[in-house]
Amino acid sequence: MSSNFGGSPARERLPANYLTILAAIRDIAPGTHLTAQDVFARARRQRPKLGFATVHRGLARLSELGYVIKVDVPGAACAVYEQTAEPHAHFRCSSCGSIRDIAFSLPPELLVGLARQHDLQIEVESTTFTGRCASCR
Ligand SMILES: [Zn+2]
Ligand SMILES: [Zn+2]
Repeated sequence: MSSNFGGSPARERLPANYLTILAAIRDIAPGTHLTAQDVFARARRQRPKLGFATVHRGLARLSELGYVIKVDVPGAACAVYEQTAEPHAHFRCSSCGSIRDIAFSLPPELLVGLARQHDLQIEVESTTFTGRCASCR
C-alpha cells in the first residue's frame, strides 16, 4: 500500500533548471499549493531565461520522481503542486477556489479491505472535500 505522499525520491541527477523549479516549490510554506504558472513566475526570478515549457516538463518529471506532489483537485481549473508532506486530504472552496490541507487519510485497514473486496491494487490515495471556507460561509 502506498500513497503519493512522502515517498523518498529516486536518486537521479537533476538538470540545473529542474533544481531551480524544485527550489521554487521548497521555498514556500508547507501547505501552500502552486499552479504551474505560479511556479513559473517564482522560478523566473532565479532564472529569467527559463521557459514555461521547461517548467511544465520539469514539474512532470519532479512529481514522477517523488520530489514534489502534483494534486489534481476536482473542480479546480488546473493541477497544483506542493512539497512532499505527510498524507493529507484537500479542501477546495467552491466559492473563492482556495485550496487548503486537511489532516486526514484513510485508515490503511480500510484501503486493504477495499482492494481485497474489489480485487484492486490501490496505488494512490487522493481525497478532496468541497464546500465553503471560513471567509465565504
Ligand atoms: Zn472561500
Ligand atoms: Zn496539500
